[in-house]
Amino acid sequence: MKLQRLEAKIKGSPIPLPLYPLPRLYFHTAWLLKLLYPYSVWKKKSEKTIYLTFDDGPTPGITEFVLDCLAKVNGKATFFCVGNNILKYKMVFEKIIDAGHSIGNHTCTHLNGWNTPTQNYLNDVYAFEKIFSTRLFRPPYGKIKPNQISKIRKTYQVIFWDVLSGDFDETLTKEGCLANCLKKIKEGSIIVFHDSLKAKEKLEYVLPELLNHFSKQGFLFSSL
Ligand SMILES: [Zn+2]
Repeated sequence: MKLQRLEAKIKGSPIPLPLYPLPRLYFHTAWLLKLLYPYSVWKKKSEKTIYLTFDDGPTPGITEFVLDCLAKVNGKATFFCVGNNILKYKMVFEKIIDAGHSIGNHTCTHLNGWNTPTQNYLNDVYAFEKIFSTRLFRPPYGKIKPNQISKIRKTYQVIFWDVLSGDFDETLTKEGCLANCLKKIKEGSIIVFHDSLKAKEKLEYVLPELLNHFSKQGFLFSSL
């Protein structure tokens, strides 16, 4: 965890406080969400297998990079795509399918369930079916109301995660992002990365390193 020096500045004479670790709250949200959504999938009971997931794509330039990295280690992953991005980048989407990876529903317009009336939310989820049929669903931002998830669970396996890579976090360095992943990933872990431009810099550094590190230890990378 990055250490930050907190300083109380009083009229030009800073009073330095001890080095203090500031917790990154999103690393810990999984515990809270697990209590809220006990019937969802957070981690698998698989020996020597890791489940990489990539949200928000397809994104030209990023998706292909991820596919190349996975191909080098003969790994499979799960892409939680945004329906509208599939429609925009059909050729890129086809490359994911051709490479044999899994596809998950991440709504058509990347809705935040907490701010969206349930029927609107469900319409957006089910509209994805017209684009691609899958039994896997991940709520954008991990934010979904209990009455939304209880309906969605009837037709989908709802997939959360046990490791957030932090690839979207502008205050985290790429080295910090890698260190976070290496420390937290265990057998059966489900890890969130983003197939999007905001994650590009970290993804290009972290993904090859991570795949190399765990391949050497005999881990397999599987789709859900
Ligand atoms: Zn998302």
